[in-house]
Amino acid sequence: MQKLYGVVGDPISHSLSPVIHKQLFQMTGREEHIYAALHIRAAQLPAAVEILRGNFEGFNVTIPHKQAVIPLLDELTAAAARCGAVNTIKSGGGRLVGHNTDGPGFTLALQLAGWDIAGSRVLLVGAGGAARAAAHELAEMGCTLTIANRTLAGAAALVQELQAWYPRLQAAAVALEECAGGRYDVVVNATPIGMGLYAGQLPVDLDGLQGVEYVYDLIYSPSQTELLRQGQALGCRVLNGLPMLVYQAALAQEFWLGEPIPEPAICQVLALLEEMSTHG
Ligand code: NDP
Repeated sequence: MQKLYGVVGDPISHSLSPVIHKQLFQMTGREEHIYAALHIRAAQLPAAVEILRGNFEGFNVTIPHKQAVIPLLDELTAAAARCGAVNTIKSGGGRLVGHNTDGPGFTLALQLAGWDIAGSRVLLVGAGGAARAAAHELAEMGCTLTIANRTLAGAAALVQELQAWYPRLQAAAVALEECAGGRYDVVVNATPIGMGLYAGQLPVDLDGLQGVEYVYDLIYSPSQTELLRQGQALGCRVLNGLPMLVYQAALAQEFWLGEPIPEPAICQVLALLEEMSTHG
């Protein structure tokens, strides 16, 4: 039976979610399902969610609604409550359940790349939705975290929150301009610096850091940001946000459908997206 799914955001035209979800539906024999991108502004969100509640089986939320949508929902999964952000919503029996698949998507992408960064010293740049999801995963891995953010208070609040969840976590907050000179094994960018208006810019200059071996940029378009280019030139292992994007989508479908998406289907969709991003 045909079912409706979608993604709401502002802006939304750049979103790769429709391509990914349609491919995943096709690969699991559900080509009849519809997945639509809906351009919904902040002021329209409450009314839009009510319409979706009655007509859609599930939907994703993206920038800037991941936190604003929470009061409009009936229930949160433990993963969404932990991050304080929702990227996936399931509708059923008139109830909306909010979930978050960004964190596991972040970690599954690391595993696919064969990176074992458990226990590493990590510089996490950013303290927004994606950074929050990544920070919880890194804390679970026993990493030592330095969170650098343009707004220091945002990083400090995230560190405080993480320490309440993980009492043994070693974490510190620094202002973005203060991370030069530090020693880190891994740098993770969870800001938009490197994409769109910020294309060609660095969120942090790797030349000013010591010991960096891994550079993970959550940006997926462009596929090679200036940070990844610099990391590669310095001999670091680099990873972009495309695998995370595909995994978070596959986990969203698993949440909606209640059954696992086979790993080969996920890898096939990732290969297609990589091909698309390389050839424009
Ligand atoms: P948010 O808006 O929640 O957070 C943005 C973060 O970037 C904040 O820490 C913000 O700092 C910082 N920032 C924004 N503009 C600037 C700037 N000009 N200079 C310095 N810092 C800045 O966004 P998300 O967390 O949802 O997304 C962040 C990035 O992660 C985006 O590039 C997005 O594409 C990517 N992403 C990738 C995913 C994937 O699956 N690969 C999934 C989700 C996001 P401040 O607190 O000071 O405002």
